[in-house]
Amino acid sequence: MERIIRKQLLYRTGVEYGDYALNHVLGCAHGCRYPCYAFLMNKRFRNITYEDWTKPKIVENAVELLEKELPKLKGKARYINMCFATDPFMYKQLDVVQLSCDVIALINSYGIPVRTLTKGVYTLNAAKVSNHPENSFGITLVSLSEAFRQKYEPNAAPIDERIKGLFAMHMCGFRTWVSIEPYPTPDIIEQDIEELLESISFVNRIVFGRWNYGKLSYPKPDQFYREIASKVLEFGEKKGIEVVIKKEIENVR
Ligand code: SF4
Repeated sequence: MERIIRKQLLYRTGVEYGDYALNHVLGCAHGCRYPCYAFLMNKRFRNITYEDWTKPKIVENAVELLEKELPKLKGKARYINMCFATDPFMYKQLDVVQLSCDVIALINSYGIPVRTLTKGVYTLNAAKVSNHPENSFGITLVSLSEAFRQKYEPNAAPIDERIKGLFAMHMCGFRTWVSIEPYPTPDIIEQDIEELLESISFVNRIVFGRWNYGKLSYPKPDQFYREIASKVLEFGEKKGIEVVIKKEIENVR
C-alpha cells in the first residue's frame, strides 16, 4: 500500500455530532457511489480520480503526529472520531486496520475515547487494543439488501459480516452505534425500516439521516423522512436506545 506524509492529523470538526476527528488514510477502497462526500471534496480540490480514491494511502507518520498532538487535547477532547473522510476498518485492507488499532490504543492511552464508524468489519484486535470505557464502535447501515450494497458500496463489507462484527464488539462489552445515513427513498430501494432496525437492536445509539445526493425524484421526501424518523424514534424508545435525528430532518418536522 502506498504511503504519504502529513503535517497535522487531529482537527476540530464542524460535523453535527463531531468534536475532534482524524483521517490517518487518504482515500477509501470501499468506493461508495452515493457518492462519497470526502471523495467529491478531494476530486474538487486535489483533482483525485475515483480510481485514485479507491487505492488508499496510509499516513506513514500518523503515530508520530499523534504523539505530538494528543498531549494538547488531554482534558479538552470529549472524544475523537475515526473517521469522516476515510474508513478505519476498511474491508480486507489489513494495513489500514492495523494502523487504526495502533491509533486507538494511542488515543486511549491519553484517556481520550474514540468513536469509530466503518462499512468494514471489526476485528478481534480492535477489541484487544480498546482501553477506554467510553469507546464507541459503529457501522453504517442503510439497507439490508446485498444488491443495494453491491451497487452503492461496491467494495465495502457484505451486510451480514458488518453486523456480525459489530455484534461481536457488543458481546465484548463495548458501546456500539449505527449510522443510518444516507437512508434511501423508496424509488432507490423499497425496504422496511423496521426490519433494518431489528437487525441492530442491540446497539446503544442510532443516528438517522436522509439521502443528500442530487435532486430526489421521490415525491414528498420531507414527509417520507418524517414518517421514517418517527419509526426510528419509537423503536429507540421501546428498546432504550438513544436516537439522534439529523438536523436536516429535524428542521422540517
Ligand atoms: S466508506 Fe465512507 S469514506 Fe469510504 S468511500 Fe464510502 S462514504 Fe467514502
